Parts: sequence; C-alpha cells; structure tokens
Amino acid sequence: MSKVLKFGGTSVGSAENMKKVAQIVLQEKATITVLSAMSGTTDALVKISASAKSGDKAQIEELLTMLSDKYTTCIDGLLENSVSEAKAKMNGAFETIRNASANYQDYKSERVIISQGELLTSAIFTMYLKEQGVNAILLNAPDFVVTNEDGKVDTCGLKEKLVQLVSDKNATYVTQGFICTNYKGDIDNLGRGGSDYSAALMGAAIEAKEVQIWTDIDGMHNNDPRFVENTHPIRHMSFDEAAELAYFGAKIIHPATIAPCKEHGIPVLLKNTMDPAAPGTTISNREDNEANSFHAVAAKDGITVIRIHSARMLMAYGFLRKVFEIFEEHKTPIDMITTSEVSVSLTVDNPEHLDKIEKELCELGNIEIERDNSIVCIVGHLDHKDVGLAAKVLDSIKDIPIKMISYGASHRSLAMLINTKDKQHTLQSLNDKLF
Ligand code: ASP
Ligand code: MG
Repeated sequence: MSKVLKFGGTSVGSAENMKKVAQIVLQEKATITVLSAMSGTTDALVKISASAKSGDKAQIEELLTMLSDKYTTCIDGLLENSVSEAKAKMNGAFETIRNASANYQDYKSERVIISQGELLTSAIFTMYLKEQGVNAILLNAPDFVVTNEDGKVDTCGLKEKLVQLVSDKNATYVTQGFICTNYKGDIDNLGRGGSDYSAALMGAAIEAKEVQIWTDIDGMHNNDPRFVENTHPIRHMSFDEAAELAYFGAKIIHPATIAPCKEHGIPVLLKNTMDPAAPGTTISNREDNEANSFHAVAAKDGITVIRIHSARMLMAYGFLRKVFEIFEEHKTPIDMITTSEVSVSLTVDNPEHLDKIEKELCELGNIEIERDNSIVCIVGHLDHKDVGLAAKVLDSIKDIPIKMISYGASHRSLAMLINTKDKQHTLQSLNDKLF
C-alpha cells in the first residue's frame, strides 16, 4: 500500500518543522516523500536570476547571504553528524548559483538557479532521516520527470523509471518536487507551485493508494480565508470540484494535481503539518449527492476579458472555430466564454501573447479588451433541475456588477466575472448568504 507524501515550503521551512515532517513520513510509512524548497527560497532564487540578467551582483550576494543564514540555521538546528556534509552541499549549491549567474544565458541559467532550492531541502532532509536510523534514499527527480517539447511530462517514461527506482520495500524514498529535465536534456521545472503536480504524477506512476499534500492550513476551505471571515474546512470533495476550485484560485493545491489522481482513482488528502491530527480534506471519486448544496467558492485574479463583436457572426457557422484557432496558435488557453448572436466574450489568464492575438482578432470584428478582472467560481451540487440555485447566487450579490456568467457547462459549478476591486465584497457576500 504505497503512499506519496508531498510537503510544501512552510512544512520544510525550519529545522523544527522538518522534524515534524520526518515524524509524519515515518508514521504514514511514506513510499516517496516529495519536497518543495524551504519557504521563500524559490522567490529569492527567481530574484537572483533576474539580478543575474541585469548584472546586479550586489543584489545576488545579498540574497545569497539571506539564503545562507536561513539554511545554516536549519542545518545547525536539525543535524548532528552530517552538519559539515550538509554545509558542503549548501555551499556547492551557492557555487552553482554564482556560476550560472556569472555566465547567465537566459532561461537555461534561470532554471539551473531556481532548481537549487528543491535540491537542497531534499538533500538535507534525507541526511536527517539517515541520522535517525531510517533507510532513506534520495532520488534525483530530473532523472525520471522529463518533459517533451510542449512542456508535458512523459508519464510512460516516468512510470517505467520510477517503478524500478523505488523497488526496495524497506526503504523510504525522498525526492524533489517541481524540477524536471526538459526535452533538450537541461534542468527545468513544472512552473511555480508545481511540486504538488510532481507528487500526483509520481503517485500515478507507482499506482499509490493515496497522495497526501501537506501544507500549513487545515485542508481546503469553503472560501478564501485570506479575504473572508468565517470560512470552514471542507472534509470531502470530488475530483471535479477540487479541480475547478484549484484552477479558479484556491491556492492550497496546484490545479494540475487533480488530473493524474482522478485518472487513476487515487484519493488526494490535503493535510496540515502543524496539526497532523486534524482531518484535512479528502478529494476522491465519491460524489456527494445532497441537492441544492453550495460547497465552496474560489476566486482567480489577473483575468483579461476579450470581447469580439461582429455582424458576420450572425447565423454563420465556423466563426468560433476561427476565433479559437487564433488562441490555439498563440498557445493561450481560454477560461470562460459567453456568446450572443453577434458577439463573443472570452477570458484568459495569460496576457503574454495578447497583442498578437488582438491583431489577428481584428480581422474578425471589433475588439474590446479589459484587464483587472477576477473569476469567482462557486462549486457544489448544482443540478439543473433544482430550481432557484442560480437565483440564490445572484441574489446574494445584488449590488455587484457582473460582467460574465458561465452556468450549465457542468452540474458542478457556476462562474462569474467581476472587477477585481469587487472581489473581497463578492466573496464575503457569497459566504454570508450561501453557506
Ligand atoms: N518551490 C516551488 C515554488 O515555490 C515549487 C513548489 O513549492 O511547489 O513555486
Ligand atoms: Mg504549493
């Protein structure tokens, strides 16, 4: 019965917390433990990389001193016999960062720099387990997490390699989340927050019984506790609900995490390292069937809406295909869409190629672009035959301008586009009136 446990930045953010992690790993009999970088590390490494690009050496040294203090304190507080081994490892990582910064060549050097956080925590944590007499083995994730030209992980290759690597039933394996090798053979990563996804992929590869994501809050809440008062943890949710919430802004889990686990029917547990006894949230295939139930709300900022107004759309076919092709060509996913006979509104969260997209869309009609929007997504059991659900949602936010509504695509969600400045008020009103 294998389990994959993933611990986030705060969970491995100090010696004290790493000791808690070790206890959990042993108690849960983790097959593979996937670690993030210590909290704050990746942000610092991203800044170092930006400083390397702009040639700001002083800033690089300042950040390295900060990281050095952080890791030295952790090593001194955690280890006994392996202190010098760990410090050598740390200094080696800093040397790598300095070299990559001095010979900075765009993305390649950036990825080398950013990968050092995960490499360091996993090495230090493995030393600690070994000192505790645990048969711990450190695996190098880029040896088996490999992406193709589109940035997608080769799951077949991952399975083949990982199954062989973790064959010793008496060992505890430790590895890095987030990092991988790309199709050119260079070190790369799966995007910010990607270590949850690493854990899910590894869980699917070894057909784990469970994937556990350990953070510093007690599971997924019904609303964003950073903005809303009186939220509560949700004990259970379906894969589809969790996917929508994660995609639409619930920060606790990376949105890509759900798909591999859903596909293999592997439950995902969201747990709190600071309170391991708390039940957390279980995400699984089980569907809760109580009618009229709103389970949770999440919001995602940084949304741009694009409106295409065209008389040519009237009673024509093939118009939407032309629109979609433009987004496809520029590798820009569309989140929400609403249509009328003569116009279509779309939202995107990645404005990188928007200028080029806009230029091409202009051929199809008049284009209007608005930034600084948020999508608010409400999930639950929203069966279409249950009357009054949408009315209840809209009634609870009567005073807020709604720019788009998407309802009916599934029985699971209703999404709305609002101005980001109205977000907090919207979330609080929904929380007060729907839950
Ligand atoms: N350390 C990486 C980040 O901060 C990956 C992760 O924590 O999931 O984005
Ligand atoms: Mg995370």
